[in-house]
Amino acid sequence: MIRYTLLCEHDHEFESWFDNSAAYDKLQKVHLVDCPHCGSKQTRKALMTPQISGVRGNKQSPSTEIVHSTPNRQLQKLQKEALEMARKVRQHIQKNSEHVGDKFASEARKMHNEETDQRTIYGSATTTEVKDLLNDGIDITPLPDLPEDKN
Ligand SMILES: [Zn+2]
Repeated sequence: MIRYTLLCEHDHEFESWFDNSAAYDKLQKVHLVDCPHCGSKQTRKALMTPQISGVRGNKQSPSTEIVHSTPNRQLQKLQKEALEMARKVRQHIQKNSEHVGDKFASEARKMHNEETDQRTIYGSATTTEVKDLLNDGIDITPLPDLPEDKN
């Protein structure tokens, strides 16, 4: 176990225990180390030389790692569920609607103006097109982002 003295972006000082320096780096990178004073996740090590607990190791010393790991697991579970949900929404839309590619904006507008069949369509639009559609009161919803889309 390594104890680090940490500072958040508001310079609150607090201490936290980690299995090793790699464990700290990992948690810090994904912003799972948070300041107990203000909850900020922008934390950094205050000391260059961490104190390593001795062989006798004080079992009573507060281990914030336990405090951290419980919500983290819940968070991971929630993130997984959200991803599953997003995947289902996407699959449902792709199965039950018409893909119109980059003609999405003009098709949505035509539907809005009742110049074409009313149906569910999906496709891509530029930020400007999306803004225009919303400004014209055309109801559009972004498809949920999935990590595999970026592959
Ligand atoms: Zn703070």
